[in-house]
Amino acid sequence: MRELADISTVGVVGAGTMGNGIAQVAATAGYDVVMRDIETEYVENGLDSIESSLDRLTAKDRIDESPDAVLDRITGTTALDDLADADLVVEAAVEEMEIKRSIFADLDEVTDDDVVLATNTSTLSVTTIASATGRASEVVGLHFMNPVPVMQGVEVVVGERTDPAVVDFAHAFAEDLGKETWESDDKPGFVTNRILMPWINEGVRAYDEGVATKEDIDRGMKLGTNVPMGPLELADHIGLDIVLDASETLHEELGDRYKPAYLVKRKVAAGDLGKKTGSGFYDYEG
Ligand code: NAD
Repeated sequence: MRELADISTVGVVGAGTMGNGIAQVAATAGYDVVMRDIETEYVENGLDSIESSLDRLTAKDRIDESPDAVLDRITGTTALDDLADADLVVEAAVEEMEIKRSIFADLDEVTDDDVVLATNTSTLSVTTIASATGRASEVVGLHFMNPVPVMQGVEVVVGERTDPAVVDFAHAFAEDLGKETWESDDKPGFVTNRILMPWINEGVRAYDEGVATKEDIDRGMKLGTNVPMGPLELADHIGLDIVLDASETLHEELGDRYKPAYLVKRKVAAGDLGKKTGSGFYDYEG
């Protein structure tokens, strides 16, 4: 395994919401970053999101360097081989086991044997992903929160075969990006989504069953339990398709108490995925 001091280039797989956020925080911390997606358009969208995010942070005086200096450290690519020189890879592609396993098999081929391969999966088994490689001991979960540049927490997920030194390395790397960490065993949903998803689904059911208006459910949970967003607001923020995928994985693994709320399914079927499509439980402008 490479020590933190030996890491200069971080590979990021996926240039979507999470991948571009991870690329941004790694480059801001001084690492060279190679961010790979499957289409040039996705890579360019990812780079544009990073630029806008850095501009916003600069306007608020939250970063020391110019956006251009940070962007200069990020290379976008569609070529898998461009990850060959990475000292660490963080995968943030779509939440589908077969896609993640195929990505990890490829990463196992193209990167040096002592490179740690991390996955940002929200709910899938790190152990199953790791078994697609010949280096399961070097595979770990690094579960960043959305939006990555803003959220402080990173969940380190320990697979069945993850080497304890790799777990320590994962904490140290996240801390080097200015984050704070906690650890979870590789069990469905880890700590965060195991507890969050039933909370969101119960909020949706309460709304669907007429317990209160959506506004009052969100207000009640915010004022009553001191969380920054209520369950319906948070579901829109995460994306209802993502809530549904995560809930279905947990339902399959953990049984009926994890059943997704019917109204989440109906809204996803209608294409109302929350903030990202302009409507979910609430309507959003722009
Ligand atoms: P997203 O759909 O915004 O981005 C995924 C990207 O992966 C897309 O650009 C897609 O083209 C790309 N991709 C697909 N196959 C690929 C491949 N073979 N190689 C390279 N890139 C590939 O998704 P996201 O919200 O960024 O989620 C990414 C991961 O992070 C998922 O595992 C998700 O569960 C996890 N996650 C998401 C959130 C969230 O709130 N969105 C939070 C924590 C973790």
